[in-house]
Parts: sequence; structure tokens; C-alpha cells
Amino acid sequence: MDDDCMACALAAGRIPLPGGRIYRTENWLVEHCVGPLGLGTLIVKPKRHVTSVADLSSAEALELGPLLQLASWVASQLVEAEQVYNCLWSHSGGTPGHIHYVIQPVTKQQMTAHDGYGPRLQLAMFGSEISPGAAEVAVIADHARRLFGLGQ
Ligand SMILES: [Zn+2]
Repeated sequence: MDDDCMACALAAGRIPLPGGRIYRTENWLVEHCVGPLGLGTLIVKPKRHVTSVADLSSAEALELGPLLQLASWVASQLVEAEQVYNCLWSHSGGTPGHIHYVIQPVTKQQMTAHDGYGPRLQLAMFGSEISPGAAEVAVIADHARRLFGLGQ
């Protein structure tokens, strides 16, 4: 754990996590995104403070593929997604940070509203600084928890 790491602070409950923990495996956690990437966007991150995919343990790496697939399916069910992006930038302020995959279900409405898709859409969404409300996130996180239960 890194005391200055937001991902570790959210995991440990030192920062309130909107919607609460959604799913966990032995080595990974799934949460709802706290940023402005839209409702249903999930974060898949290692429990351990790891700043590079190359530094994952064998056990962490073995769980990753199936979890990304499951989380992507769950995200696709939460909103009317045209596509579900899986992205990992984890380069906060230009410094390697706690790796976290962003599992983002992208809707036609979002593409129209921001006139773009892919990285351009993400930049526009970050620029809008509009994050989903806590009540909406709580409802969708409950839905996601049920879906993870079905998809195991
Ligand atoms: Zn961390």
C-alpha cells in the first residue's frame, strides 16, 4: 500500500467509494469509476500497489484475462453500450501510478454528445468534468454486483 495512492485509499476505505466495492477476486478489485467517464464505467485494479503490468505476479496475471472479460460483459449490460473500451493509462501527472483498467461502456448518445469516440471521446468526457451522481452510481453498482454473481 502506498499512502499517497488514491487507488489504495479507495480500496482501504480511506476515501469514500461511490457505490461501494462491486466485485473482488483473490488479487483484483472492481469498483465504479469515480471520474467523468460515464455511468457503468468500471475500474479493475490489483489489490496490491503495482505500477506496471510487467510487475504483476503470475497469480495476478492469471486472473486478469478472465476478469477483464467478465467485467466487460457486466459493463455491456449496465447501459446500452455500442462498445466497451478496456484502457490502462495509469500515468498520473506523468508518474507511473497504481495500474487500473478502465472498462468503459460507450453509448451512441455519448458519442453524439461529445462528437467522437475512442481517445477523443475520453478527452471530451474528462473535459466536461461531469461525473455521474452518487445515487445513480449506487443503483448501477448494485446492478453490477448482481451481474458479476450471474457471470461467475
Ligand atoms: Zn496504490
